[in-house]
Amino acid sequence: MAVKGEITLNESRCLGCGYCAIFCKRGCITWPSDKYTPQGHMLPVISDPSRCTACGNCGCMCPHSAIEVYQILEQSPS
Ligand code: SF4
Ligand code: SF4
Repeated sequence: MAVKGEITLNESRCLGCGYCAIFCKRGCITWPSDKYTPQGHMLPVISDPSRCTACGNCGCMCPHSAIEVYQILEQSPS
């Protein structure tokens, strides 16, 4: 059984600090970016989701609970 990760970003909660990108050691998240919230906060971009291992760093480091992390269990073909 292989484990992969998937994250979601609640853009309305993001205040653009960039911690999620800084603390993702797999390079899944890009910040700075050219995307902004309506309030002018610079959004991160989930730029390489296929590398996510569901380690949870991004969700833990986000001070505004804008990121949720999911583990995806993939059944190996038998
Ligand atoms: S869960 Fe871990 S690997 Fe996946 S995006 Fe967040 S910090 Fe990166
Ligand atoms: S850590 Fe949270 S608030 Fe900061 S840029 Fe990432 S999603 Fe936005």
